[in-house]
Amino acid sequence: MIRDDDFIQSKDVPGPTKEEIRCLVMCKAQISSEDIVVDVGCGSGGLTVESAQRAKKVIALDKNPEAIELTSKNLIKHGLQRKVELVEGDALNLIENLPSFDVLIIGGSSGDLPLIISRGYQKLKTNGRIVVTSILLETRVEAVETFKKLGMTLEVVEVTVAKGKQMKRGTMMMGRNPITIITALNNKN
Ligand code: SAH
Repeated sequence: MIRDDDFIQSKDVPGPTKEEIRCLVMCKAQISSEDIVVDVGCGSGGLTVESAQRAKKVIALDKNPEAIELTSKNLIKHGLQRKVELVEGDALNLIENLPSFDVLIIGGSSGDLPLIISRGYQKLKTNGRIVVTSILLETRVEAVETFKKLGMTLEVVEVTVAKGKQMKRGTMMMGRNPITIITALNNKN
């Protein structure tokens, strides 16, 4: 797992997803060396870089050109640019034209999560996985409801990480915001 400090960061682009959360997302995504992964909302490239280390190929989408640029820099820094296709635009319109894939990671959806999931599902291979990371209450409800409607098998994990900060008198635990990771398995034939 790559350390947070080993990513080039920008105040204008969200991410990278914190390393403790990246661990969990990778654990749930179960990426193998034969897999094609699509990362929707690549941001700083936190999950794109981790996926590229494990997958055959990654297609990373973001509607923010600065996110595409930063993800590109982070891929070059980690020597993974050849494995990743970067596409600038709204996932809502782009996802239908992609080739089929094994894993869909969604870290940003701008209020269109149900549609992005439904369109992504059409392209998902048998036994493929969709992993949604959510910080908003509304997003997790939308994800769960959409996965249920599609008849997918789902798992919901919520974590709140606290990290120790060194103070004069000891180590103070500082809580971060809770993050929900919703994973759905495609068991259609
Ligand atoms: N997982 C990333 C951080 C994601 S932040 C990392 O580890 O670095 C969420 C990103 O989703 C933002 O960059 C935002 O521009 C993008 N985004 C939000 N809605 C989108 C959409 N509909 N299509 C494409 N990108 C989207």
